Amino acid sequence: MTRVEFHAKRPARTQRCQGRGCGPHGHRATSWQHWLPQQALRVYVSGLRLPESEARAVLRRLLADERNLSPFCHRFHLASRGGRELFTREMVPVSAWEFARELGEAYVARLERAYPMRRS
Ligand SMILES: [Zn+2]
Repeated sequence: MTRVEFHAKRPARTQRCQGRGCGPHGHRATSWQHWLPQQALRVYVSGLRLPESEARAVLRRLLADERNLSPFCHRFHLASRGGRELFTREMVPVSAWEFARELGEAYVARLERAYPMRRS
């Protein structure tokens, strides 16, 4: 499938960073975090075996679905490129679980693996 880029419905910098420690009056977000990663959505859509134009439309819609997105500042964005250690299970919004459930149990499991429960 030809490359489909992610285009947010609204720019992240119009949002507040959702990171813990950034505070209720925290700084502006700089980017959107995909809870289910873009790659997982691409795999999902190619598995649907739709005609190309239809597949592109579905993928574009899934990439921009705000249920699977949260705005974060640069600090969190960098962490997502590295170890994700700043992201915890508690930070995954209810909407992202709902989004994953619509794609199937395998995607719920993927979210669970990506954001394991912390042992205290
Ligand atoms: Zn922040």
